[in-house]
Amino acid sequence: ETINRGHFIETIIRQDVADNKNDGRVATRFPPEPNGYLHIGHAKSICLNFNMAQKFSGLCNLRFDDSNPAKEKQIYIDSIESTVHWLGFDYGSALFASDYFDQLYVFAKELIEKGLAYVCSLPAEEIRAYRGTLTEPGKNSPFRDRSAAENLDLFSRMKNGEFEEGTHTLRAKIDMASPNINLRDPVIYRIKKAPHPRTGDKWCIYPMYDFTHCVSDALEGITHSLCSLEFEDHRPLYDWYLDNLSVPCHPQQIEFARMNINYTVLSKRKLQLLVDQGHVAGWDDPRLPTLEGMRRRGYTPSAIRKFCDTIGVSKKESRIDVGLLESCLREDLNENAPRAMGVLRPLKVIIENYPEDKTETLTSMVHPQKPEMGTREITFSKEIYVEQDDFMEDPPKKFFRLGPGREVRLRSAYLVTCKQVVKDDQGHVTSLICTYDPATKGGNAPDGRKVKGTIHWVDAGNCLSARVNLYDRLFMDEDPEKGGQDFTQNLNPASLEILNDCKLEKNLAHARPEQVFQFERLGYFCLDVKDSTSSAPVFNRTVTLRDTWAK
Ligand code: ATP
Ligand code: MG
Ligand code: MG
Repeated sequence: ETINRGHFIETIIRQDVADNKNDGRVATRFPPEPNGYLHIGHAKSICLNFNMAQKFSGLCNLRFDDSNPAKEKQIYIDSIESTVHWLGFDYGSALFASDYFDQLYVFAKELIEKGLAYVCSLPAEEIRAYRGTLTEPGKNSPFRDRSAAENLDLFSRMKNGEFEEGTHTLRAKIDMASPNINLRDPVIYRIKKAPHPRTGDKWCIYPMYDFTHCVSDALEGITHSLCSLEFEDHRPLYDWYLDNLSVPCHPQQIEFARMNINYTVLSKRKLQLLVDQGHVAGWDDPRLPTLEGMRRRGYTPSAIRKFCDTIGVSKKESRIDVGLLESCLREDLNENAPRAMGVLRPLKVIIENYPEDKTETLTSMVHPQKPEMGTREITFSKEIYVEQDDFMEDPPKKFFRLGPGREVRLRSAYLVTCKQVVKDDQGHVTSLICTYDPATKGGNAPDGRKVKGTIHWVDAGNCLSARVNLYDRLFMDEDPEKGGQDFTQNLNPASLEILNDCKLEKNLAHARPEQVFQFERLGYFCLDVKDSTSSAPVFNRTVTLRDTWAK
């Protein structure tokens, strides 16, 4: 068979559907904890869950795993929702684990009644000490044999706020000698006298992740609970809870490898540190791998989805080259981004034989390979800007740009020849005096003479002055934590270069935030959504035209 059967999870789901498991129904969920912003790693999980649901005509829920009130905030909920939508996925309305708190409480009592859970009054350090180690079995808690009646009473008093934090927990009664530490009487509920963003002061006990997660999955009728590999050891507990509770169904947990990318870090905690210590300007700094940062940088949802498709899904951890992410982006932008001209480091050119007061309008393609994208008008006059790099006073033979006596093509305009170099007192080049050949409008000489170089330019009398942020990789090493080093010691000092005096073609005054343009010969750029004003526009370099990074 030659058709692509997809990754191992798709294979499992296809077989389940063929076997009519869950009546052939497929339901997945993306379950973020609202304690930070999403990053590109989350996109892998989002794409996987939504794509599997879509492929098998099922549904994917967005469910907030909001059972830890200490770190969760509404701003994260809002950001996560808008980011999932931006990526192009639809889920109806968001669901919240906290909406199941009442049911979770009832399920916890069911475990107590079955003799499968008990209130433990050991302090946290003791619980940890009793738990044992990888090589040593744990010891039973002295409170393990409390009667169901006593446990029910203590548990309801925990709920009623009669006890201080840390004095009691509800624990599952499983096996303190299990080789899997997750099964050594894990905590189900702890006392936490913190208000919850959604349930307010209603609760002072909160369910732990492992208990909350599997029950939430079951209550929502999830069929395939896809999670990252670090939960593999938790799967026996996931199944233990569901086997012992009268839940409506028993979803199958399947683990896959997390996404890692070189030259960056992917963990909310580490990203938080970069923000808190001021190494970046915020969670949406365009250098961060957060989806908000990438969006602001000019990443498109389709490039991110393409990247997630390309890297696939497996059980094996690996580090993916950021070059692959960038090439997915370039591919998308090359095809779709309108073209424009911008000069990042301007050098004034005066065309001495061009009439003083004349301005002419030239027409250029919005996209040279896509005539359907139309044309744009650019103006030309006696004074223009070219890139400082496109001039050399003493150029080598192969330099096909401007130099004394050399002729170049100005993109979509004329052939010009450099006649004179103007310098200041220190000998710095301040402008060039050129002539143009009026017979070469559009860029071709009627006498057939060959001019190799074509450079970009901007009409000095009719352009947009702007700031441009040139972004580069945030870290210097492929593995910012190489040899256990502190990743904040590995930051690339040149990750942001600000150019304050760029000259852009006037059409860019109508750029919409996040809309990406190819600045010809330079790369892809978009209007910054946050720092731009109509009088002082700011553009971000999304990505260079080619991978120019020295490895
Ligand atoms: P972090 O370590 O960055 O805080 P997390 O796993 O704690 O991530 P959650 O909010 O719990 O963050 O993540 C929601 C879902 O996204 C989980 O199912 C998790 O497995 C998945 N996920 C998080 N990071 C990655 C990653 N790098 N690659 C693939 N999936 C990920
Ligand atoms: Mg998590
Ligand atoms: Mg985490």
